[in-house]
Amino acid sequence: MALSEFELIRRFFDRPQAATGRDDVVLGIGDDAAVVTVPEDCDLVLCMDTLVAGVHFPEATSPEAIGHKALAVNLSDLAAMGAEPAWFTLSVTLPAADADWLAAFARGMFRLADHYRVQLIGGDVTRGPLSVTVQAHGLVPRGEALRRAGAAAGDRIYVTGTLGDAGMALRQGVQAAPALRQRLDFPSPRVEAGLALRGLASAVIDISDGLLADLGHLLEAGDPGAELQVDALPASAGFAAAAATNGAENVHYDIALTAGDDYELCFTVPPDRCAEAESRLAGLPGGCTVVGVIEAHPGIRCRRRDGSSWVPTGAGYQHFRNGNG
Ligand SMILES: [Mg+2]
Repeated sequence: MALSEFELIRRFFDRPQAATGRDDVVLGIGDDAAVVTVPEDCDLVLCMDTLVAGVHFPEATSPEAIGHKALAVNLSDLAAMGAEPAWFTLSVTLPAADADWLAAFARGMFRLADHYRVQLIGGDVTRGPLSVTVQAHGLVPRGEALRRAGAAAGDRIYVTGTLGDAGMALRQGVQAAPALRQRLDFPSPRVEAGLALRGLASAVIDISDGLLADLGHLLEAGDPGAELQVDALPASAGFAAAAATNGAENVHYDIALTAGDDYELCFTVPPDRCAEAESRLAGLPGGCTVVGVIEAHPGIRCRRRDGSSWVPTGAGYQHFRNGNG
């Protein structure tokens, strides 16, 4: 590499602490390890996700989008736990030390980091096929972390935002409308919704593999069945327009049910807390929509408004079937 690892880190990633205004970072970038102060009344919530070029994002994705997405997918996992993002570490593997690439990558990552006041406190840069790993650290009042376990029969199933935008963008490739492409490249982690659901949701998961697959994970940990209303799945205007052009209704529902990369939250709420959940989330980014109900009978049943059943065919459904026999 033309620039040493040390020079790369200093130039693109070592920023003044004032960028996030955090006073709980004792030592950030520059020592052998970082030191942070965890408040006494909080649990520390940790998650890590790796994005590999050609696997987790198309090879042609802009470095700015890769920087955003690498952090966003981790903030989405923290959101699903009801944790407030605090710090993160970063490992970037690059084929070559490309200053323009790194500058754009850092711009995408720090725009999101600064928005949520989450501070980069360490990491490394190595040479190899392009991949990015972020470990995010969040804080939650002791014992209040949200979990996948806990959904009980009768609980309503909600999702934040809209479903299928990222999946439609992937499917349409360069033809995709800019709004859909934006959702694929710059997903919005539902941090505010996750915080609002503390003490209220019976179970939460973020949708990274598609609603059916991720709801399947919730059902592995709680009551085992669910009914989904496919007509109720929230769709963006861009998604609806693309689906209308496509013509086939099954494509529309399949994408909304099985495509990943939306990074919305799927959560369940006991019936007597639904009004409170809806009012808490109404004013937050993405809002929420009720899409079904938890049932004691195992399996996920998809229905139309007229009561007829709907059988999905996409990959997320296969994943769900494999995971649940
Ligand atoms: Mg997750």
